[in-house]
Amino acid sequence: MCGIVGLVNGHPVARDIVTALGRLQYRGYDSGGIAVAGPGFDLRKVVGGISLLMDSIGNGFAGQAGIGHTRWATRGHAETRNAHPHIWNGVAVVHNGIIENYRSLRDAMLARGETFDSETDSEVIPHLIAAARAAGAAPLDAVRCACAELQGDYAIAVLFEDAPDRIVVTRQGSPLMVARAARTSAVASDPAALAGLCEDFAALEDGDLAELTTGGVTIYDSDGCPTSRYWRKVDVAEEDGLACAYGSFTRAEIATQPAALRQTDVRLRDLAIPPSVADAERLVLIGCGSSLHAAAAARPWLECLTCIPCDVEAASEYLTREAPLSHCTAGVLVSQSGETGDMLGVMAMLKARRVPLVSVANVQHSALARGADLLWPTEAGREQGAGATKSFTCQVLALIRFGLALGLHRGSVTLETMIAVERELAAVASVCTRAEAMEAQFEAIAERLIRFGETLFIGRGSAAAIAAEGALKLKELPGLRAEACAAGELQHGPFGMVREDTPVIVCAGAGQHADKTLANAGDVRARGGYVIVLADDATAAAFAPVADDLVVLPGAGLGTLFAQAVAIQLIAVHAAILLNQPVDRVRGRGKSVAAE
Ligand code: GLU
Repeated sequence: MCGIVGLVNGHPVARDIVTALGRLQYRGYDSGGIAVAGPGFDLRKVVGGISLLMDSIGNGFAGQAGIGHTRWATRGHAETRNAHPHIWNGVAVVHNGIIENYRSLRDAMLARGETFDSETDSEVIPHLIAAARAAGAAPLDAVRCACAELQGDYAIAVLFEDAPDRIVVTRQGSPLMVARAARTSAVASDPAALAGLCEDFAALEDGDLAELTTGGVTIYDSDGCPTSRYWRKVDVAEEDGLACAYGSFTRAEIATQPAALRQTDVRLRDLAIPPSVADAERLVLIGCGSSLHAAAAARPWLECLTCIPCDVEAASEYLTREAPLSHCTAGVLVSQSGETGDMLGVMAMLKARRVPLVSVANVQHSALARGADLLWPTEAGREQGAGATKSFTCQVLALIRFGLALGLHRGSVTLETMIAVERELAAVASVCTRAEAMEAQFEAIAERLIRFGETLFIGRGSAAAIAAEGALKLKELPGLRAEACAAGELQHGPFGMVREDTPVIVCAGAGQHADKTLANAGDVRARGGYVIVLADDATAAAFAPVADDLVVLPGAGLGTLFAQAVAIQLIAVHAAILLNQPVDRVRGRGKSVAAE
């Protein structure tokens, strides 16, 4: 996933474009580039962070329309020649996505004597547009003609040497927002990039084209008819300042977790469930990565509140096996970005089979959020750290609140249960604040984990999902070896990993059958493993004899689950800091994953 930006405003635009690109680095950061138009193109590309791009822009960049790109390579290495924009015969293009048929297009172009500078799939796009221009098409029509040849996903912004007053943009599959202010038109992969530059933005639909000039933004639908899209306000980004105060976006996002949980809870409290979803006799919860773990953590609660079976599925696997569906199944699609390639694939597959869909999405203008029968949103705010933190806990809360609403609708929740669950939901934000205050203990655990180099997490029930998320966080932020298993699976293989001093983090308390988890922890201790227990008040005394480190977390029941989530997040943050790893970046990927 990469980020694209375009801006036209009657003044030199280069510095504003690069500033906006800086806010998109969470989408990709291996190289970047910018082109401004008129007369001719001024072009600059760099390998590395966007700050290098800012340093390299000289006085020549006076153009009043321009496009920029922060890249996360999918085809071709992170090299200057592969950075975008790509230019051919007076047409400059930035592209987010993957062009699947680029090899055959490129072969045909090479046969015609055209040449290529890069190894990317994207470079065929300016060739196609330039050919349509040469055949007499106006800029907008040339882009439409070119797109008819493309297979795959794309969001593109196009600049023309002979029409330097405009940018033409379009999308299919990849997200793209157009935005505006007085005498300013802009485009970006995420509207947050345009804070301070534009007042409002609209999400383009698949197949839309738009032309941007100082006179405004004109949008055309896939049939070429002028159309209007829903415009909303661009929020002013406050996160940059917070990240400075906390040292990283990820750490700042953990600090804002309680507020995000409160906002999510308020937003969901009065949302109604449509009959198509309320009548479901089975739920299939689908996600990837942390969202999958959030679904697994919430499942025991959902099943208990609704009395209907809930399956939890990884999107890629679900797509692969095209699972049969029982009658009256509803799909619950869980995603932070709402643009993950596999999730969009699942949505298309389930829609084709007329399955009612609920989206638990954080980015509410995303395709996943807009395409479902019911948007059951999380209000985590913008998450820029590549590892999920506040979006994860907000998903768990949102799913449990969904279970409560569904259970009340179906009559499976008694008044007594409702009051108890409401009380627990109301407490989770303050539990997270209290858990965060225990940071020094988590830092000490992180020191031990990095000394040993590998960690095993175990838990039971919902806590098994927290254990899985703990291992994922350690892989993502510090890049440490970590495994997780349901505590009851320990004896079926994972035990082989336990040697003298192997750190084993036991998520105890929140799941059922704490006595069995205690026996598992005892087995680990007997083998010489180093047992670190994340317990609650009620289970701490029982685990004390088997624990090398006992952390007594705040909260009880549901609260313990959230406190454990904060604990594993802060352990991973500190392990990354101690290892000098960039806390906000995950080796090998950007934040949202387009590739399937
Ligand atoms: N496929 C393009 C490239 O590799 C765009 C990358 C992206 O969207 O992440 O350059």
